[in-house]
Amino acid sequence: MLRSKNFKEIPYWLDPPPLTKSFSTNSLPARTDVLVIGSGYTGTAAAIRLKQAGVDVTLIDMAKLGTAASARNGGMTLTGLSEGLTKIENKLGKEKVKQLFAESLESVNTVERLVAEGSIDCDFQRYGHLETAFKPAHFEDLKRDQERLHNQFNHETHIIPASELKTEIDSSLYHGALLDPISAGVHPAKYIAGLVSMADDLGVKLCEEVTAEDIEHRTTGFSVRTNRGTMSADEIIVATNGYTGPLTPWLRKRLVSTESLMIATEELPAEVAQPLIPRGRMIYDTKRFLFYFRLSPDGKRLLFGGRLKSPRKTPQQNAEYMFRDMLSVYPRLHDVGIEYAWSGKLGFTMDRSPHIGKHNGLYYSLGYCGHGVALATYLGEKLAEMVQRKNPATAFVDLPFKAIPFYRGNPWFRPFVYAYFSTMDRLA
Ligand SMILES: Cc1cc2nc3c(=O)[nH]c(=O)nc-3n(C[C@H](O)[C@H](O)[C@H](O)COP(=O)(O)OP(=O)(O)OC[C@H]3O[C@@H](n4cnc5c(N)ncnc54)[C@H](O)[C@@H]3O)c2cc1C
Repeated sequence: MLRSKNFKEIPYWLDPPPLTKSFSTNSLPARTDVLVIGSGYTGTAAAIRLKQAGVDVTLIDMAKLGTAASARNGGMTLTGLSEGLTKIENKLGKEKVKQLFAESLESVNTVERLVAEGSIDCDFQRYGHLETAFKPAHFEDLKRDQERLHNQFNHETHIIPASELKTEIDSSLYHGALLDPISAGVHPAKYIAGLVSMADDLGVKLCEEVTAEDIEHRTTGFSVRTNRGTMSADEIIVATNGYTGPLTPWLRKRLVSTESLMIATEELPAEVAQPLIPRGRMIYDTKRFLFYFRLSPDGKRLLFGGRLKSPRKTPQQNAEYMFRDMLSVYPRLHDVGIEYAWSGKLGFTMDRSPHIGKHNGLYYSLGYCGHGVALATYLGEKLAEMVQRKNPATAFVDLPFKAIPFYRGNPWFRPFVYAYFSTMDRLA
């Protein structure tokens, strides 16, 4: 790999970090009405809405605020769900899938609304997204999806045949695509930094590098032990998604944490960068181990992501694998340097759907399956409604949330699943 001499193992989005204020010396209050654990989009959106409703809220995170997945992702603010619509309909019925899809559209509006409300400078733009067909059969599936989105969901998307794909992507790897113009792109770290600043301005108590280690139920409320002391809370929101650990065993049995890796090229001349994705779309393909890619908001770099292939290898070695994947899409970038490589954790559920609810007194929303920029924000707001005992109008609330059989947090089945997925991706 031709690595740039400036190669860094940090997210492109955090160089420099958009949030300059430190919250590590803020003292942990002895009590709070609502304790939010996790400072990504879910927790921060919930904290903002609760504070605006006059609730006393404390938001803690074991890391620096807003530096986990919510600052490391592709910034693809997508319509739709991670699971295919047909599969959801087969399991849950026509009406339910309609509601869930409508909420996915609303979730993109929610991000747009919050960005406007907080005047967050985060390059939010409705670039549209492109789902590219890796196999000819996938293109036939995309054509069926387009018809269905039109007929059943009243949502307009567009089919782009392989012969016209050059107007959207300078690659001959794919067999056509589905374009959804409603999706957006955002600078994810500026977005979460803006949300944290909004929460700060509203008076949410913000404490970083505070790990919730144990939750004890009291007659009323909870006592929470952290590495910085114990505090009590009337209500708790768990917003830990891919970083969910032993604190909440019930959730851990329902969520598999998976790492995704992204690389960013060095700055490219406009005549090299712009034709890669001429209309600036957010792109992902139809493989099980999908690639996702986009241009940086300034249009100067290609950002490319996919599964972290080998957690035991160094970030540099994994970046080499990702570089080769990038070349399978854009062979012409063979002598381009890679300046950044980083990874983050995603939360996957058995039905590939996010889940929001209350279990054993704890409110939670997680399991976005790589589709969380818009949905985590949206469901974070819904959590705030739930805590205030308002009826949260979301169809996600009563989805059956099944434990993964024979699983308590150690995904022993991963090698088998990965081998199956790789084989399916290779087969014609
Ligand atoms: C590399 C990558 C690329 C992605 N690309 C996209 C994309 O393009 N589009 C898209 O829609 N989605 C994407 N995603 C997914 C998206 O980033 C997530 O779904 C979303 O950020 C989840 O937000 P969250 O607030 O629920 O969780 P997070 O942002 O992960 O925050 C969870 C927080 O909980 C904290 N925490 C955990 N346990 C504790 C504890 N015990 N005490 C205190 N704090 C704790 C963690 O430190 C962390 O900060 C991507 C994810 C990754 C990793």
